[in-house]
Amino acid sequence: MVAPYRALFQLKRLHYISFNIPRGRERRIRSALAEIGCEEGWRPRLLPMGLERFEFCFELPDPRVDAVLKLAHAEGLIFVTRVEQRFTDSELRSFPLLDLSVDRKEIDPYGPTRGTTYDLSTGCPQCGTGATQTSPFLAPPRSLPKTGLLCASSSETFVATPLADALRAEDVSGIELRQVLSSTDRTPLPWFQIVSSFEMPKMAPSTKGIIRSSTLPPCPRCQRDGHYHTPEERLQIVYDSASLTVGELPDVVHTWECFGRSGIHAENFRYSRFAPPLILVNRKVFEIFRAMRVKHARFTPVRFV
Ligand SMILES: [Zn+2]
Repeated sequence: MVAPYRALFQLKRLHYISFNIPRGRERRIRSALAEIGCEEGWRPRLLPMGLERFEFCFELPDPRVDAVLKLAHAEGLIFVTRVEQRFTDSELRSFPLLDLSVDRKEIDPYGPTRGTTYDLSTGCPQCGTGATQTSPFLAPPRSLPKTGLLCASSSETFVATPLADALRAEDVSGIELRQVLSSTDRTPLPWFQIVSSFEMPKMAPSTKGIIRSSTLPPCPRCQRDGHYHTPEERLQIVYDSASLTVGELPDVVHTWECFGRSGIHAENFRYSRFAPPLILVNRKVFEIFRAMRVKHARFTPVRFV
């Protein structure tokens, strides 16, 4: 029997692998990963107690999958893997909104680490979640990639000048494209932070793939931080269509839910962290990304029911 045309596309699958790296073995495992060819695309995440977590998404078939699993076994690492079907572009186009994430090694500074300033009166008084960023994002020039059109820190998302120009030319609404400045001499850098202004209501309870953690609980006051992705379940964001009209939303919005934990360090503000929301975009933005052949952009459907 001949496979339907559509089924050929659906053969594309994604294989997620993630594991924590035990303390003291970071260097050895990092260099082993580099030898496998995984120096780009890992998302190192610092966990409490100094642990690093690595997550990677392979598009199958990819010979590196076996090599990484072999490494994980040899090192006795506890890892989680998940295989799922990749959405085709035509499938993505059928959804009203898409979660935009960046599948690229994160840049090092984030939040206030290099002097970026915030208005704390606009955020949660206890943890700071939701505080408005009042200055341009400050980053050492060498921390930003020399190639590509999209990158992210652990809490901010950036587009390079050509993509920023394209988004402006198409009058994409709901965002300010704020130019990143050098943290050493405040000169403009060729990257623009996506600053979203429209906050979505809370997600519907039928949302899947987002968890809470009892060891890293949310702020007791706002409950807004402390959301986490889980490698065990695909992200499936759902909104109640009774609470908003999709057609009236700006082209880019952000979620009420913020990911990771927030914390204000009064003594050294640069150690503060503001848990970021997810960025959701509509089809207009998706088409601009596709027209510009933007690499490292991963889109996940958002449903309204
Ligand atoms: Zn809070």
